[in-house]
Amino acid sequence: MRFWFLVGLLCLAGQLHAAVPATWRLDLLHGLEDDKEQFRKSGLWQEPLLWQGPVDLQDELNRGDYRFEITQSGTGELLYAQSYSSLFSDWSLSSDASHNERYFEESLRFPAPAMPARLQILRRQLDKPGQPLQAVWQLDLPLQAEPAPTPAATDSIRLLQAPETADQAYGLVFLAEGFQADEAEAFFQAATELSQALFRYAPFDRLRPYMQVHAVMTPSNDSGIGANKDGLPLDTRFAVNPNALGMPRYALSMEVHAIRNAAMVVPYHSIVILTNSHEYHGSGIFQTYAIAPAFHPRREFLVLHELGHSLAGLADEYFHSTPGYAASAGIIEPYQPNITSKSGLQDLKWQHLVADDTPIPTPWSQQAFVQNRQMSTLAVEPYQGVVGAFQGANYSAEHYYRPALACIMLLDMGDNHFCPVCQQAIVEQIKSQLEN
Ligand SMILES: [Zn+2]
Repeated sequence: MRFWFLVGLLCLAGQLHAAVPATWRLDLLHGLEDDKEQFRKSGLWQEPLLWQGPVDLQDELNRGDYRFEITQSGTGELLYAQSYSSLFSDWSLSSDASHNERYFEESLRFPAPAMPARLQILRRQLDKPGQPLQAVWQLDLPLQAEPAPTPAATDSIRLLQAPETADQAYGLVFLAEGFQADEAEAFFQAATELSQALFRYAPFDRLRPYMQVHAVMTPSNDSGIGANKDGLPLDTRFAVNPNALGMPRYALSMEVHAIRNAAMVVPYHSIVILTNSHEYHGSGIFQTYAIAPAFHPRREFLVLHELGHSLAGLADEYFHSTPGYAASAGIIEPYQPNITSKSGLQDLKWQHLVADDTPIPTPWSQQAFVQNRQMSTLAVEPYQGVVGAFQGANYSAEHYYRPALACIMLLDMGDNHFCPVCQQAIVEQIKSQLEN
């Protein structure tokens, strides 16, 4: 009796093990050519580690400018879906897009389907909120994928934070940019300090048991990022440009495929690239990566703010216009969970966090804040610390509203505080990437 029980358990364990699929990654080029949006497949890879997280994610949170869906061939049954944003969507808002055509690297990761399947990319119709996403590209997936390119032998890995249960963890990985091999300790030290800092702030403090953090030292030939003093570009692992798309302090790497190849050696969901720099710069692209300087005095703020974008798909809550970005064609209800337009005030998406006696919109003195940009002006506001709908967000002082007077997505207040709406959005996103 006991023997058969044991055999049964072993069979069950075998089935469970067999049920964990491989991780596949589709590398694409996504761009504009002949005035049309185009996609080109550049590789379908099987990564070295098995899939982490739900194999049947439907991504009901649905943040990001794009979404990919894996459906079963023949029946069309939805097997897996994940929304994301890309360098292309970022660039297409920049002034450069109005007079140039370019391609950008993009990577989609998903559990290897157990049956013939099709991958489809859908684009959000940003000018038609509430309308279904529009299919823009598709690929019938082959039954097998090539092994992903071998990572550089010189890369070294360190575990910075272990979760309570390793197979139930949200993975974060720090990669090094502009660190030479003999600067590895400086990178690991910066990554360790920033990992520890992350868990001092809500909601990451309470998510700590479910999070796993690694650092992968990805050495560069040159030390530093951008250009040397003669203006010549430095030879760095991911070629981060600290002033990308014509925008000062907007740091981007176009080497998305190389970044994915470096990250895949550890279990991960989110990538943070730490630059060997004391300068102020950064970026965060939803489901792609965050970039922040390892040594700027405000590096904790930058890592947290950019993770707000890259991990949770949050919008900027600041309301001064951003040079380089073309003005929005119209005022539409944005999909991001932490901003709303005037029309969204009627049916506020974060209403469940608003007290009955809080007026919507919530009054505050925007002018006093703009004049001196001091926390002290916010401290005397009657609705300080209250969730409401405050005018000024998403690069517009007038047309968009944010949930709180102060939040790390608005400005660096020195306390690295996400407002309750942003906190909830981060928790929802991380939960969605873990098994139920
Ligand atoms: Zn916020």
